[in-house]
Amino acid sequence: MDALGYYNGTWGPLDDMTVPMNDRGVYFGDGVYDAAVCVNRVIFTLDEHIDRFFTSAELLEIKPSCSKEALTALLQDLVQKVDNAPLLAYWQWTRGASRRDHTFPPGTANLLIMLKPIAVPDIYRKIKLITQDDTRFLHCNIKTLNLIPNVLAAQRARERGGKEAVFHRGEIVTEGSHSNVHILKGGVFITHPADNLILRGIARSHLLGACKKLKVPVEERPFTLTELFNADEILISSTSTMGLSAEAIDGKPAGGKAPELLKKLQDEVFGEFCAATGWQPGVRS
Ligand code: PMP
Repeated sequence: MDALGYYNGTWGPLDDMTVPMNDRGVYFGDGVYDAAVCVNRVIFTLDEHIDRFFTSAELLEIKPSCSKEALTALLQDLVQKVDNAPLLAYWQWTRGASRRDHTFPPGTANLLIMLKPIAVPDIYRKIKLITQDDTRFLHCNIKTLNLIPNVLAAQRARERGGKEAVFHRGEIVTEGSHSNVHILKGGVFITHPADNLILRGIARSHLLGACKKLKVPVEERPFTLTELFNADEILISSTSTMGLSAEAIDGKPAGGKAPELLKKLQDEVFGEFCAATGWQPGVRS
């Protein structure tokens, strides 16, 4: 089996699985999720993703259906049941199942898990970005299922030949449609503070860890579109991209002015991933 679906205790080939119509995820998107990369059956930084998942659930007052330990064990068990290829492990809780009514139903969350093959990214490849008005709500720190503006922005990026859309609220750059955005300027790593306007990315935390290790100064502060366009390097980070750099934004050349520092940071985060998972670039697992 190359891809697996799980729903409240039942599992099978992903494309054969279904969810009940009364699941609140179906008609309200009333749920939270998280996702991690799995290589050689090792789910990279799983504890950090599980911690964030429980935090998201708590912020939305969704009652967990199991403990952190039980969810960890379940995910680790399920990755044994699919072909041994690099996977995206995705899991979500919705606020139970009931006939449509805005107020909370009794009971605990419904757990859905998907495992599907992915390509491990080439962290050193250059990407193109576009900018987009950030019209999202003010709870971007919660990893909710409600991703409509993110979906639209990602689609706009694809239509314009870009890999990611960078959101901005007025002049202030917030994050990507499915990544965090950072810049290097004058040897300093600058990134939006992890407040309610962005998701506290796990890959972002690991880039910050790399900066600490390499003694690269960090400024966690809002930065502007002008700073983005004039940055020495622009990085986007997410679980599945780790830390890609950009060569263009909105069709204008960008970044490329601090390649050595950029490579040091990329070597550090990619090296950490390879050490933890046994991934060898260029060698199929
Ligand atoms: N922001 C948004 C909106 C995202 O969807 C993601 C990807 N989950 C990120 C940031 C990066 O988070 P992480 O590094 O944990 O994947």
